[in-house]
Amino acid sequence: MVPDTERAGFIAIAFDLIAQDGFSIRDALKHVTALGLRTKRGRPVSFQSFSNLLRRPVYAGRIQVERFGIACQGDFEPLVQPQTFDTVQVILKNRAGSSKERQLNNPDFPLRRIVHCDICKRPLTGSWSSGRTKKYPYYRCQARDCGQVQIRKEQLEAKFVAILSAMSVSSELLTLFRGIVRDLWKDRKRQELSRREQLKRRLDEVRERRDKLDEAFLFEAKIDEAIYQRQKKKLTEQSQKAQAELLSQARDDIDVDRVLEFATNVIAGPGQFWSGLNSDQKVAFQEAILPNGIGFDGEFYGTANPAFPFKALSAFSGDDSRMVSPTGIEPVSPP
Ligand SMILES: [Zn+2]
Repeated sequence: MVPDTERAGFIAIAFDLIAQDGFSIRDALKHVTALGLRTKRGRPVSFQSFSNLLRRPVYAGRIQVERFGIACQGDFEPLVQPQTFDTVQVILKNRAGSSKERQLNNPDFPLRRIVHCDICKRPLTGSWSSGRTKKYPYYRCQARDCGQVQIRKEQLEAKFVAILSAMSVSSELLTLFRGIVRDLWKDRKRQELSRREQLKRRLDEVRERRDKLDEAFLFEAKIDEAIYQRQKKKLTEQSQKAQAELLSQARDDIDVDRVLEFATNVIAGPGQFWSGLNSDQKVAFQEAILPNGIGFDGEFYGTANPAFPFKALSAFSGDDSRMVSPTGIEPVSPP
């Protein structure tokens, strides 16, 4: 019933990485493979089997007999906290859902679904209409009882870019924003550094205790084998956890100036930024900044509900600050 112990240790780490540290399934697999996770035959575990492993209720201490639809809590110590297990199940499920959803995107019409007809509130669809010599792309409301909106793709997208550009933020505010992020970043780095030191000390400690344990068992014969194995396993798990955290910190070591430059460009010129994306990226970006979509009935109205950070930043800027002539760093201005 209890999965074999060495593998179980790696799986426990994987659960934590995914549920608590925000790792993707794939990155968590990479991680525990680096730490030593292998199949019984000594090969790296495939993505598919890894996903299947993460779905096994036994890890949360649950016994499930699918054939009879029975699920109950087992009387043994769960390898992962039930809450952690459930979190990972949600992530696994969403992952499967999102790849299906992506196929629904039509690369010719990125604004489908995000833009809705402001008269009947249903999402616009995209399609090609035949002209005399060639086909032309249109966005339309195709609701039978409405159908009042119809616009050429190029026109709607140009209007959309204009709406995005109106969300841009003044350069003074961007300078302020950069300063705040840099300060926060320095603080975080300082904290990380001390956490790193702490983890390294912890690893040394565990190593020392393992040596002592070996000595007590192998040379002095002070403890019996069962206790030795149990303690050894505990220490191995502790050291794997500390190592995994150290590794994940190394991964976070990003170039904050480059990220900031990127973020600044997005916030300073979201319209231009959108234009440069491919279709899938456009859809993802739209959903992030306009989670409630946007209504259209020939023109876009102020119905947009831009998400954070646009919302937060524009709350600071007010309407007239955009007219203040830019000083300092020039924002990327839309064409
Ligand atoms: Zn309509």
